[in-house]
Amino acid sequence: MNKRWTIDKIGEFVEKNSDSKLLSTEYHGFSQKLLFKCTCGNNFEKTFTKFKKNNQRKCETCQPPKASR
Ligand SMILES: [Zn+2]
Repeated sequence: MNKRWTIDKIGEFVEKNSDSKLLSTEYHGFSQKLLFKCTCGNNFEKTFTKFKKNNQRKCETCQPPKASR
């Protein structure tokens, strides 16, 4: 059931599903923070889990964290 993600697959996912770019070149696991570049030019760090599942696909300036209702 566990999908194994590689840095290449993550890069593809980021490209297809967001406007951000992946800057990290290595992926060591779901708990690792990856470095992204937002369309506004800011870099931001996030785990891939948050990026994917929580739809946190921009930096905190463009997409401030919200408490879910
Ligand atoms: Zn931004």
